[in-house]
Amino acid sequence: MTPNATPVIVSFARYFSRPFCPECGREQFVPEQSSFVDDGCIRHAWLCEACGNAFNTHIEFDELSL
Ligand SMILES: [Zn+2]
Repeated sequence: MTPNATPVIVSFARYFSRPFCPECGREQFVPEQSSFVDDGCIRHAWLCEACGNAFNTHIEFDELSL
């Protein structure tokens, strides 16, 4: 498998990479909210269904560029 064979899927997977709750370690599936912070960054706000912990993740667009 070569990286160039599936660039869209790779980007999709990285964009939607699922974090783990820092409190209980449960994998998160859908962000509560996604927002553009600026031109190069998206912030996802997560709310853990297992323990109710809220946390944020950031994704830089530079990481998605191929
Ligand atoms: Zn949790």
